Amino acid sequence: MVTSAYLHLPFCLRRCFYCDFPITVTGEKQTAGIRTQMEEYGAWLCREIRATPILGGELKTVFFGGGTPSLFPVDLLEKVLRTLDQRFGIAQSAEISLEIDPGTFSLEQLIRYKNISISRLSLGVQAFQDNLLANCGRSHRVINIFTACDHLERSQIPWSLDLISGLPDQTRDDWQASLDQAIALNPHHISCYDLVIEPQTPFGKQYEPGERPLPSDENTAAMYRLASETLRKAGYDHYEISNYAKPGYQCQHNRVYWENRPYYGFGMGAASFTRNQRFSRPRTRAEYYAWVEQYEQNKGVLDVAVLTKGDRLLETLMLGLRLTEGLDLSQLITEFGQSSVDQILEILKPAFQKGWALLSPTTPPRLALSDPEGLLFSNIILAELFHHLDPENPVE
Ligand code: SF4
Repeated sequence: MVTSAYLHLPFCLRRCFYCDFPITVTGEKQTAGIRTQMEEYGAWLCREIRATPILGGELKTVFFGGGTPSLFPVDLLEKVLRTLDQRFGIAQSAEISLEIDPGTFSLEQLIRYKNISISRLSLGVQAFQDNLLANCGRSHRVINIFTACDHLERSQIPWSLDLISGLPDQTRDDWQASLDQAIALNPHHISCYDLVIEPQTPFGKQYEPGERPLPSDENTAAMYRLASETLRKAGYDHYEISNYAKPGYQCQHNRVYWENRPYYGFGMGAASFTRNQRFSRPRTRAEYYAWVEQYEQNKGVLDVAVLTKGDRLLETLMLGLRLTEGLDLSQLITEFGQSSVDQILEILKPAFQKGWALLSPTTPPRLALSDPEGLLFSNIILAELFHHLDPENPVE
């Protein structure tokens, strides 16, 4: 039953130096030509929505990601939401999230979001130091962050604040200061991502992970521990490897991913998981528009392989162990069989001994990674699982 939708709005003022997302750079000036491009993109998005088979009830979560969705005009956003509602229905209580960047919206714009039922905003702050923002090619500066937060506070829309650790020249003191500033601004939710160096980006061509000016592995690990300790002390629940929430403010849409539940995806580069098929759309606008045309002709059928049970088991582990509540073992047994779970527990023996993996004393027991050490070394733990778990044989 599919009740979640991700929509990609790909327009950004400029490309940040670490970013390899599928985007279109607009430049700082919002010209009539850019408006036309956005109208055209919105129209193709609506065509894709209308061509997509209905696979569930009303939508309970909708997420507009980007790109910088706050650059997308509100009237066009409203049209897309109306099309979604006409096609699938949107539940009255749906969580409708939108990503926004400092310096790209006014208070009036936030009020208009409220009027079209946007119920959660996610602000891309990344750092509270102008030199670090400049190093990353971000278009905003610290002063824009404070203005943005003031608007958010006045709008009374629940919001999340994103930070990045492991930036070039970032020190532990910078990171501690960013965490403290974030807490002082009192968002409902905080995400802390560790910088990933993608090969095709300026950072990928310039830097080697773990080497200066990037922080050493030891320092990035220290930053992860610092975030967990500082944010938990401030009353944020560390509910996912990179995410912290005040009670009642976890991101319901992202939980769909981590719980390996299905979701629609719309827009260039957007991924979907429906009918046991994972599919990523083309990453340029021209290719995406051509693909939508073909998709309409194919009556919404995706030409992509269905996941095997073994694939699903590995994905369930990779995604579910990101949540600090972990995985319900009885559900794993029901879906994948006792022998698979026995093998998983056997492979994880060294992780249990190190205190990185835990079994809860609850009934039924849950398998989880410890906070922060297990989460910090989750890549090593998952690599062991992927290496030793034969996707074909252990599954009953
Ligand atoms: S604002 Fe976000 S999506 Fe746009 S270029 Fe920067 S990191 Fe990428």
